[in-house]
Amino acid sequence: MIKVLVNGACGRMGSMVVKTVLSDEELELVGAVDIKGGADAGEIANAGKCGVIVAENLGEELDRSGAEVMIDFTRPDVVFRNVMTALEHKVSPVVGTTGLTDAQKEEIRQASEKQGVPVLIAPNFAIGAVLLMVLSAQAAKYMPEVEIIELHHDQKLDAPSGTAAQTAEMIAKVRAEHAQGHPDEKEKAGWEGARGADYQGMHVHSVRLPGYVASQEVIFGGLGQVLKLRHDTTSRESFMPGVVLAAKQVRSLKGLTVGLEHLLK
Ligand code: NAD
Repeated sequence: MIKVLVNGACGRMGSMVVKTVLSDEELELVGAVDIKGGADAGEIANAGKCGVIVAENLGEELDRSGAEVMIDFTRPDVVFRNVMTALEHKVSPVVGTTGLTDAQKEEIRQASEKQGVPVLIAPNFAIGAVLLMVLSAQAAKYMPEVEIIELHHDQKLDAPSGTAAQTAEMIAKVRAEHAQGHPDEKEKAGWEGARGADYQGMHVHSVRLPGYVASQEVIFGGLGQVLKLRHDTTSRESFMPGVVLAAKQVRSLKGLTVGLEHLLK
């Protein structure tokens, strides 16, 4: 049994992770943390009383629980501190929270290597979204004119989404940086932001609307043809198999791993 602590246990993702961990035969829920602490984690997750009360202090709960793995679904502004706290306690973080900067990831990589504690960061745990990223990087070799549209619920804090950022980074590894669109296109004549964010010449557009969970479309344009790759998350359940896989495998990794695709055989 792998001892798991869920951080952000009262949130949309965290509570579903609590329920999933409770129902998995190889995972044991030993701790739960959220700034809205005090209640039984299982009851919050609609999984019945489990005896793990949601605590408010991560460091103390890591000490008390004896957790081996911390699964984090909190907020972009607190996730870095959470990961560093877990590493200080020699607990392996599985990070679903998005919004970590490149500089923060580099600090995490160094801390992970120094402490000898592996870390997995996955901007998307849904297998379909992971395939979308991998296939997009393949397609971009042949069709390097590409734009990304990501669509999420309107409570999401960070933009672009972690998935869009990782897709753009994976494409950038195979696509020479170049500006797209008309060389004279000028936003100033129209509305600022109309062309979206610019990452190495690729434009990335973020839609925030009620009704969406998480979707992404990657559009490739070529001479006389357009290729669209699209993934839609219709339920947060899509993330759970990936979270479980990560919780079971993270301790066999080395240093920092970014992306669930590294665990898929
Ligand atoms: P949410 O707002 O429903 O839940 C966040 C929870 O974290 C809340 O219960 C909040 O009280 C708690 N929290 C805030 N600060 C905290 C702190 N300092 N310590 C402990 N708990 C704290 O958000 P959500 O929809 O569950 O999403 C959480 C994160 O997961 C977001 O960054 C989102 O983008 C990301 N996400 C990632 C994936 C993936 O596959 N990697 C999938 C969905 C969502």
